[in-house]
Amino acid sequence: MPVLDFEVVKKETGNSPTLLLIGGIQGDEPGGFNATNIFLKNYQILKGNVWVVPVLNKHSMLLNHRGIYEDMNRKFAALPKTDPEYDVIEHIKSLIVNPEVDAILHLHDGSGFYRPTYVNANMNPDRWGACSIIDQEYLADSKFPNLGVIADNTISYINKHLIKPEHKYHKRDTKTAKGDIEMEKALTFFAVKNKKSAFANEASKNLSLEERVYYHLLAIEGIMQELGIQYERKFKLSPQNIYHLINDAKLNIEIEDNIRLPIYGLKSELNFFPLPKKSIQSIKVTGDSYLMGLSPRDNQQIFVKYGNKLATKLNPQYFDFDHSLKQVKIKVDGKIQEFKIGSIIDVKKSFEIIPLEDYRANIIGFVLPKDNAKKPNEVGVEITLNMCQSRFSIDKKEKIYRIEFYKGELFSGMVLIRFQ
Ligand SMILES: [Zn+2]
Repeated sequence: MPVLDFEVVKKETGNSPTLLLIGGIQGDEPGGFNATNIFLKNYQILKGNVWVVPVLNKHSMLLNHRGIYEDMNRKFAALPKTDPEYDVIEHIKSLIVNPEVDAILHLHDGSGFYRPTYVNANMNPDRWGACSIIDQEYLADSKFPNLGVIADNTISYINKHLIKPEHKYHKRDTKTAKGDIEMEKALTFFAVKNKKSAFANEASKNLSLEERVYYHLLAIEGIMQELGIQYERKFKLSPQNIYHLINDAKLNIEIEDNIRLPIYGLKSELNFFPLPKKSIQSIKVTGDSYLMGLSPRDNQQIFVKYGNKLATKLNPQYFDFDHSLKQVKIKVDGKIQEFKIGSIIDVKKSFEIIPLEDYRANIIGFVLPKDNAKKPNEVGVEITLNMCQSRFSIDKKEKIYRIEFYKGELFSGMVLIRFQ
């Protein structure tokens, strides 16, 4: 898997200060990168700025791996130029030292529950979950020098909203400058050395994803309050509501502006799926979250990912993609309508594709009676669900079918028909 660069999304009002929020330095810590994603989709900043790196180690996230090129959070002291992640590290360092950035919050999922003294195997000083980490109490010459006080106040905000008492947060001062050789290589200490007020929040890996995200969002809110950043949240903060945001059945992924697929409910494999003839990492992937991606595997399959979740596996057929076709006309339940390429079209009873000059339509799972043409043009026929072969549907409920449009040998895009 090649190294992927990360995205930076800026929520700005123009007033200082600026918080840099970073998720996903480790690809198997979904609490952090789901929190940044939900933050981006559901918070509005009213005063101050928040720059967000939703997922720093995207190539490892797509493989559900902590770090396919070793631990990325140990690469901030010295790093040879030959390291595969050298450019990514240089990029994030340049963002950290950017003069506009005043403070950094780094999100992690850690094991167990940190406690200053030994309680049991799950709760002790060697555990990393449920704590707020600083490298030192005070950072002279920085915009927010009282790191310890800010962490204390953030912790008390979190602890006012605990789901269970045993989730209680504690402060962990690693006193890095006094000889913590491991932490000296970490992102937050690089920030501290550059006079940037830096904090890390650890959500416990013992908790469900929505509970981890819940505590990360509390930490983000607590830090924003300490820095004087004002915000508005679009939902009532609770693990249940976060669960619904993460598992929203309406989430789609978009591929090269020609294809849109739902993330949930797909069959485990989709065959002869059109993808462009170019490297997988250069395929444009967008959609309703910052965690979407395509991940190639050794067996030629392409995994469609949403964070650490697998949406489906594609057995691709590669085409040159054509972007000339913008919309198509389809008669849906008796009424002719225009649809953009990439649309997901709800149909009650029947649909019929209106013929297009220069393009042909192929409904995957429908064969024109008495027509075995290799390159069918399935237009002008009214089609109902029982005329489609269910094994070609893309979803487990066998209600969604692909219509693919071609111009000669070129793939011009797809729409989906979703029968009710
Ligand atoms: Zn981590």
